Amino acid sequence: MPVIEEKPQDEKLFRIRHSLAHVMAQAVQTLYPGTKLGFGPAIDDGFYYDFILPKPVSDAELAAIEGKMREIIAAAQSFSHEDLPLDAALARIEGQMGEPFKAEYARELAAKKGHKEISFYANGGFVDMCEGPHVSNTKDIPADAFKLHSLAGAYWRGDERNAMMTRIYGYAFNTKAELDEYVAAVEQAKQRDHRKLGQELRIYAIRDEIGKGLPLWLPNGAAIRHEIEKLAHEMEFRAGYKKIATPHITKRGLFETSGHIPLYEDGMYPPMVLDEEGRGAGGPEESYYLKPMNCPHHHMVFASEKHSYRDLPLRYTEYGSVYRFERAGALQGLTRVRGMTMNDAHIYVTPEQLKEEFQAVMKLHERYYALFGLTNYFMRLSLWDPADPKRGSKYVDDPENWALSERLVTEALEEMGANYKVSPGEAAFYGPKVDFQFVTVTGREFTLSTNQLDFAVPPRFGLAYTDKDGKEKTPYCIHRAPMGTHERFIAFLIEHFGGAFPTWLAPVQVVVVPVSDKFLAYGKKIEALLREDLVRVELDTSSATMGKKIQEGATRKIPILLVVGGKEEAEQTVTVRRYGIKEQKAMPLASFVEMLAQEIKERRHV
Ligand code: ATP
Ligand code: ZN
Ligand code: ZN
Repeated sequence: MPVIEEKPQDEKLFRIRHSLAHVMAQAVQTLYPGTKLGFGPAIDDGFYYDFILPKPVSDAELAAIEGKMREIIAAAQSFSHEDLPLDAALARIEGQMGEPFKAEYARELAAKKGHKEISFYANGGFVDMCEGPHVSNTKDIPADAFKLHSLAGAYWRGDERNAMMTRIYGYAFNTKAELDEYVAAVEQAKQRDHRKLGQELRIYAIRDEIGKGLPLWLPNGAAIRHEIEKLAHEMEFRAGYKKIATPHITKRGLFETSGHIPLYEDGMYPPMVLDEEGRGAGGPEESYYLKPMNCPHHHMVFASEKHSYRDLPLRYTEYGSVYRFERAGALQGLTRVRGMTMNDAHIYVTPEQLKEEFQAVMKLHERYYALFGLTNYFMRLSLWDPADPKRGSKYVDDPENWALSERLVTEALEEMGANYKVSPGEAAFYGPKVDFQFVTVTGREFTLSTNQLDFAVPPRFGLAYTDKDGKEKTPYCIHRAPMGTHERFIAFLIEHFGGAFPTWLAPVQVVVVPVSDKFLAYGKKIEALLREDLVRVELDTSSATMGKKIQEGATRKIPILLVVGGKEEAEQTVTVRRYGIKEQKAMPLASFVEMLAQEIKERRHV
């Protein structure tokens, strides 16, 4: 059953957070007279305020500011409200308050938004220009459920031409228990941050010499990619997909047909302009672009053969590399990059096949996520908005097809008994879509994958199949990428598993640890046996102590260590130590090899 999406605003908590911003500004101005104020809003996990301070402060001062805030809360100061006409308001802001940034904003409210009056709130001698709402008295703020946690630089109004201010952030919740739980989650998230673990576990690197947002996959990361592609290959092969391969670049015309140019052009790397002799003299028709999406290439594969209705659904799949010129400020580790490889496929269907195929794709998503043990996600159905005054430029203008495709997608979800939210007005340009929204440990939500229905682009490419009645018809296209890009998906998996991957996915699956050099030969034999079975195995030949070797295995989060010494060699056994499990277990080498093969084949999480 769908739930219409709304952002529930915890009104009381919002007031607490907002009031805390005032109290923090009041505390900072008491401790550092002459401090000038910027903005101080409530945010998702608390509040912040921007300041110009008379002297720099560091993390060390946060405790003192917090202490002063608790004094203010304990003083039980009431908030009072007052509206002043613009002139009187400006006189107060520039005179008694002495706040140049607030004055600038008040003038803007008057000039651009037509405010005739400016609203003020006061508590205990501190006055702020603000529209509320607040708690009625500072004693309504739970004094043990907030915490100042960090400082950052922020330009006044986010504009780098403006003054640089100091932003102080605080967390705030209704109860101390909620605060503690949140702080613990943030701490856990920091430990699991894929940028930290990605470096420690040597998964990827980003180098200046190559460029921002263009990650290099080190052997460990490449092993994970390989496993994911293998998984995709097996699942898709069984579901009737056909693998294709397409180039990374293409002539401009293809993206004009698809509509990426001009609509998406500023999200693309600029073109390579050259003529057939390779000289940089060509016209626009001879310029080549790096592809930001695989769709047009896949449509050209479809167009390269004749199709009958009997061939459909036709499912083309490719782990396709694409390049997008994401803004430098938006780049983040592996979650937002400029060079990425996508778990892409395009499925061409007749209208009669659409619903069933859409369902099959949704089920494929669920199978992947279940396999990785991912449960913290929900689906969001994005529809068009026929009432939107800008609908002409936001959506393909084809009400009949919108109605049909939205009905089919909704029925597909309902019949599956899916729990999903509906977002009116969030559809893609060319059709409705279902996003898979994941939630991280700190409650941050992001899109991992999108399943889109497209009735508009196939006709632009003149795609056609011959139907039962002998007539040429245009197929619908489903765009899907359940595992998103390797970059975003693996970043998420690193954090989800805290770097301790299940055996099938782990970059190094087994390390053989001989108790001394005497048993290197037996260790080598095991290594060779496992490697023959395609297990990613290493032999620890270092001269470190046993304790050190085992410690090293744990630091690298290796799923299985095999300890071998005299007893093991004599009996042709191994002693198995699993990551995070205290007990070790001896077993015949042959049984271990078989057990491991089974565990990997079934992609079991032990
Ligand atoms: P976003 O809104 O996050 O920019 P999008 O809607 O442009 O993504 P699609 O074109 O639908 O994304 O791409 C499919 C998937 O590719 C996304 O769901 C996401 O998992 C992944 N993806 C998109 N952009 C990036 C990026 N810059 N870096 C890493 N992965 C990305
Ligand atoms: Zn306020
Ligand atoms: Zn596509």
